[in-house]
Amino acid sequence: MTASVIGLVGLQVHWISWSIKLNEEQFDANVFGVLGRVAERLEREESSAASQLLDSTFGETENPSLSETETMQEDTASQYFQAANNKLDRYSRTRQMIDMAMIQELLKPKPLGERIDVERLDLILKQELQKAGISLSYNYGVFARQLNAFVIRDNSYQHITNKNSTRVVHASSFDHLYNSKYGIDLFTTQDLQSPGLLMVFFPAKSSYVWSTVWMTLLASVLFTGIILFCFAYTINVIFQQKKLSEIKNDFINNMTHEFKTPIATISLATDSIANPIVYNNPDKLKRFANIIRQENKRMNDQVEKVLQMAILDKEEMRINQSSVNLHEVIAQAVSNFSLQVEKREGTLNAELNAENPIIEGDLTHISSMIQNLMDNANKYSPEKPEITVTTRNISGGVEVTVTDKGMGMSKEARKHIFDKFYRVHTGNLHDVKGFGLGLSYVKAMMTAHKGTVDVKSELGKGSNFILYFPAKN
Ligand code: ADP
Repeated sequence: MTASVIGLVGLQVHWISWSIKLNEEQFDANVFGVLGRVAERLEREESSAASQLLDSTFGETENPSLSETETMQEDTASQYFQAANNKLDRYSRTRQMIDMAMIQELLKPKPLGERIDVERLDLILKQELQKAGISLSYNYGVFARQLNAFVIRDNSYQHITNKNSTRVVHASSFDHLYNSKYGIDLFTTQDLQSPGLLMVFFPAKSSYVWSTVWMTLLASVLFTGIILFCFAYTINVIFQQKKLSEIKNDFINNMTHEFKTPIATISLATDSIANPIVYNNPDKLKRFANIIRQENKRMNDQVEKVLQMAILDKEEMRINQSSVNLHEVIAQAVSNFSLQVEKREGTLNAELNAENPIIEGDLTHISSMIQNLMDNANKYSPEKPEITVTTRNISGGVEVTVTDKGMGMSKEARKHIFDKFYRVHTGNLHDVKGFGLGLSYVKAMMTAHKGTVDVKSELGKGSNFILYFPAKN
């Protein structure tokens, strides 16, 4: 999937850049075509102007064709000269000499700027661009090689002639027009070396080229975006499912593990009871019956936990609302639990500071929530557990905090501990048993009680679980 998405994006990029290149090439060809036609027209017009001048000078009536212009300039002159030599008198000869001087003057190369009529050039360029369908704004200029400067720029002559000197603005390398690639040699057929270039620059060319592809670009960005989004979403769902199946596997493993011990103990106890030495001794019988009862209770508790979750899942949980004195509940829980903590040489204290500990809630659920938290505080304290349960009144309610100095947890773990089945990964070690259900049960119950549960914890330093119950109205 990743490979094909990357391939797809690559293809789009290639395709779009290719079509931009194509557009640009087409535009270039179009512009060079225009320039070619403009240069041709300028040249033609100069030739016909010259022939007209010759005509008017020598009184010819017939209009010489274009290709004859050059030969005409020389031939007519020499024929004339010969005829004049033969036929004319001194006056005519003098007249002829004046004509010759004029011809020479006509044929003398003029500076580039004077050979082009600015108005005419402006018009021709405009016409040709229009014909080619190019409606972009443009700058143009005529660049004279000899001067290394523009002699015409955007409808005006550039060189300023004084009485004594001609000031020339030399072309600079920062000049867009100077750097433009659209240029064509002028007067290439008449002159041996072209005296200069006609250059055009389109300031908005790149946006024009892009404007031809932006619709395609937008569409492909949009569709690629959709594909990428769906791709990311699918991957996310796959990973979530994978995680869920791992969590469920863990849960099943844990559960089997949790049940195996009591089942094994019960099995051993019943075997023992079947032994005459035991069933004849009421004390021993009582002891084994006690063991069976205890292990049975343990299994029952486990089943109860799973069932609680099943109830939460179906959202069937019903809360039997009544007035609950939190201090009484906590005192009861502490006295039930202290034996376990003492067994591990730990301490379990209650600091019941709330002035008004009465809230509205379900006694059974509140009691099992507090038991869950104390159980965790004990389970996740690897050394001697130091557990404190405190209460205090805060604005609009009562806060119950269960504090331990155990292993604590990372920021990442804090984010997930209230998720169902989540357990901080301890590798394959089942040193601390559990289903990962206790805290999600606490969370769901606190929500049902319109309260909140919060955790403050630091890895290696301990944890604080804070329950907030809104006060009874
Ligand atoms: P269980 O204890 O059955 O694994 P819980 O829902 O009660 O499930 O807790 C979820 C996880 O949160 C635990 O696996 C544990 O890693 C972490 N946790 C809970 N309480 C504490 C605590 N007091 N100190 C450190 N970690 C805790």
